Amino acid sequence: MAAKSMRFLRDLENLKDKKVFLRLDLNVPMKDGKILDDTRIREALPTINYLLEQGCRLLIGSHLGRPKGNSEEDKKKYSLEPVAQDLVEKLKKEVVLIDSPDSDAPRGLLAEGRMDKILLLENLRFCKGEEANDNSLAQKWAKCVDVYVNDAYGSCHRAHASIDALPRAMRVKAAGFLIEKEVEVLSKIRNAPETPFALILGGSKVSDKIGVIENMINKIDILAVGGAMAYTFLKAQGVPVGASRVESDKVAYAKELLKRFSAREKTVLLPIDHVIVKSLDTPKGFQTTKEEAIPEGWMGVDIGPQSRELFAKELARAKTIFWNGPMGVYEIPPFNEGSFALAKTIAESTAFSVIGGGDSAAAAVESGYSEKMDHISTGGGASLEYMEGKTLPGLDALEH
Ligand code: ADP
Ligand code: MG
Repeated sequence: MAAKSMRFLRDLENLKDKKVFLRLDLNVPMKDGKILDDTRIREALPTINYLLEQGCRLLIGSHLGRPKGNSEEDKKKYSLEPVAQDLVEKLKKEVVLIDSPDSDAPRGLLAEGRMDKILLLENLRFCKGEEANDNSLAQKWAKCVDVYVNDAYGSCHRAHASIDALPRAMRVKAAGFLIEKEVEVLSKIRNAPETPFALILGGSKVSDKIGVIENMINKIDILAVGGAMAYTFLKAQGVPVGASRVESDKVAYAKELLKRFSAREKTVLLPIDHVIVKSLDTPKGFQTTKEEAIPEGWMGVDIGPQSRELFAKELARAKTIFWNGPMGVYEIPPFNEGSFALAKTIAESTAFSVIGGGDSAAAAVESGYSEKMDHISTGGGASLEYMEGKTLPGLDALEH
């Protein structure tokens, strides 16, 4: 049997007049019916425009947030209506929002054959079958269309009907431009990163990142740890960490991991100084330590200036860098400075650089250096699971 493979948009032929179910990630941050950041909509445009240029009739589906049920309040709060309006402005086309994604309406509207309007299904999570990966819901959608295209990378780790059951029911299917880029870049890093390969981890929890470390361990030349994660590692080395956030049940793991790295003569970088506060409620009272120990009653909230320099010096020899997890509580300035300094280091390095993780991507963008990085994954949880070596249901379902 031939190896399974994924098809991309440009592999699809004869798209003229074809009815296409396009799964997008239009899950934009919203407040009181206003879109706060339209990045995800803008990023979806190349795939939408390509399909329109090919003469396709589009039925677009996306989720938005996490509606709990079907209450009128939820239906208003999680409606894709503002997204529909934004699409009208961006595409200069009529967009018809279909209230019930599991109704027969799309079938009729698609059959009408009018090319000048785009159909957008309401929040897919309004139907019970979506999160349950329900086959009959998938069949219903499959019967409306000829082709399935998925460009919702950030949802590919979820086995939901529009991501998993639907493409499995379709013969003609492909990945859109966003997924194509993610798979190209992340598979290169996961399978054969050019060495020396540096993995930089930060963020809140060691337990979130163990999978990535374990899957990549034989390829890592430099492991740099910042963020709250670092305190579990420092504690494992017997360094006083004050009131910093520590995962007590992961200290033994951290100790073991440090041993494994030193046995393999690989570099592990931990912070050697810290920005500390007594409480996050009083950020203005912060101090900077001169050493790795943190005094009692204080908690580490960012890597200090010496650590930033150390990381920069050691990362200079990396040929590939993957960064996941901010170096500090970047939401509260000035505790974003460690992450910004790291972003600058990565931007200035000649290494192939990839940022994965929602908060790390946000920190990289806020730093102003994101344009100089090779790839910022839009995946969040999906990119982490990919780097853990897991099979993502949404990608698997696209394979032939
Ligand atoms: P990503 O979304 O990039 O995968 P995470 O979700 O793992 O990153 O971690 C981001 C969170 O980690 C942020 O909310 C940040 O405030 C928190 N964080 C980073 N450093 C610390 C720290 N020293 N103490 C407490 N929280 C931290
Ligand atoms: Mg996060």
